Amino acid sequence: FQTTGVKTLTTSNWIRCASASSKPPTVKNWINGRAVESKTNDWIELTNPSTNEVIGLVPKSTQAEMNEAVESCKEAFRTWSKTTILQRQQVMFRYQDLIKKNLKKVAANISKEQGKTLTDAEGSCLRGLQVVESCCSVTFLQTGETMHSIAKDMDIHSYRVPLGVCAGIAPFNFPAMIPLWMFPVATVCGNTMLMKPSEQDPGACMMLVELAKEAGLPDGVVNCIHGQHEAVTFICDHPDIRAISFVGSDTAGNYIYERGSKNGKRVQCNMGAKNHGVIMPDANKEQALNQLVGAAFGAAGQRCMALSTAIFVGKAREWIPELVERSKKLRISAGYEAGADLGPVISKKAKDRVLQLVETGINEGAKLVLDGRNVKVPGYENGNFVGPTILHDVKPNMTCYKEEIFGPVLVSMSVDTLDEAIKIINDNPYGNGTAIFTTNGATARKFTQEIDVGQIGVNVPIPVPLPMFSFTGSRGSFRGDTNFYGRNGMNFYTQLKTVTSAWRQEDATPVDVQMSMPT
Ligand code: NAD
Repeated sequence: FQTTGVKTLTTSNWIRCASASSKPPTVKNWINGRAVESKTNDWIELTNPSTNEVIGLVPKSTQAEMNEAVESCKEAFRTWSKTTILQRQQVMFRYQDLIKKNLKKVAANISKEQGKTLTDAEGSCLRGLQVVESCCSVTFLQTGETMHSIAKDMDIHSYRVPLGVCAGIAPFNFPAMIPLWMFPVATVCGNTMLMKPSEQDPGACMMLVELAKEAGLPDGVVNCIHGQHEAVTFICDHPDIRAISFVGSDTAGNYIYERGSKNGKRVQCNMGAKNHGVIMPDANKEQALNQLVGAAFGAAGQRCMALSTAIFVGKAREWIPELVERSKKLRISAGYEAGADLGPVISKKAKDRVLQLVETGINEGAKLVLDGRNVKVPGYENGNFVGPTILHDVKPNMTCYKEEIFGPVLVSMSVDTLDEAIKIINDNPYGNGTAIFTTNGATARKFTQEIDVGQIGVNVPIPVPLPMFSFTGSRGSFRGDTNFYGRNGMNFYTQLKTVTSAWRQEDATPVDVQMSMPT
């Protein structure tokens, strides 16, 4: 996670390099445009999930530091909110260029701290970069509305203004992409933002915040603190924070939504998922199976849009042995090793949870048709590896179906009809994503019409919308009413102001006092 060697991230401001004998380097707070060492006594170990070696220490930022960060955001808002939209757009033009130039560095950091393969990490950075690119369209996305002559000599116009200090709380699984869903959109609209990256892999977010300064974002417009529950509660309770963007688990999301809303904040929460892939017997078998393998086991299953449940319809169930064969061929290693298809899961705790959920599946009657539990990775014996695992004949009442596993485990079912598949999906509380594999347009149309899920793929396994649209997970996967990025994202970070004005030539003529409601 060193940042040496590139023009921009030349010296690591936010992480202190340690000598061989000293304690691991510390991750810094980022306050007022500077990396600042925390004064806390409470540190969280940052580990490389491929080895479990401690590679850094993440502070639980103190109350004083968190307050200082909000003060800095508040102060910066006074001037930043008054900059022109064209000035803010120019920052985003420079920022997208800097991200492109540093993308490999950021991806290398992700691979080391989070575990995903380098190509996957680069892909996730590109998806974040696309959000920054879309922020350059702020001049179109933030336009208001106007109506002339709404009454005699009277006009109305309404336009969007920033909210103030916003906060972003991010999960571990996309340490660059998800922060990029947050602070670029918030700041291009004229807000300032306090970021709290995941304590499990804060490096990518810190690099991106540093690059944003280089792109011209003034000091204080984005600040960064670290920690776990206390930092989150601080954000939910701070009276100067006007809005919270959260992405992560249900437990944290429900807590943040309820506590933040109760405190009068605008809150958007993207949460957990259980995404189903429906494989119809008329699907293109080659494509469907390859896409299913990639979407179930890519990123070691740690994607909120992973296809973690397969529903084989009718004769498609005969393809399961082939699915197993293809999954067996995946190469498991540290994400930064050449040729790795999937890396480790994020922590020992996460691995234990995944293994325990597989165990419940076996105990509750599912068939373990591919067992990745005892995978050995030469040179990485200590890492948190789980090989591709498939549980078949899973029923909706089983724990392994009801819980989000968030590991390389595919839960598989077979049914006789599309209607049965649709019912299973619509009965599931989550609504993040789903996909159907078919060559029949009418089948695809029926599915998209009847399914109650916010993001649907037709022969597309991971239908994450590009940022000219918005991320529209629904039901149990989302709380709030305005989605992330795209026009919705800009709407989330702005509020409407409506001006009604009368300019009359005959103003000199006295007007009678009017006591009834003007119409
Ligand atoms: P997480 O909820 O454990 O952590 C997310 C953030 O919340 C972190 O910054 C963490 O410090 C904080 N946090 C954790 N537990 C908390 C608690 N009890 N109270 C308050 N704050 C808490 O999530 P994660 O494990 O980092 O990420 C994985 C989860 O995120 C999965 O459930 C996945 O589906 C979900 N996710 C959803 C989307 C989406 O767009 N729907 C995208 C990515 C990840």
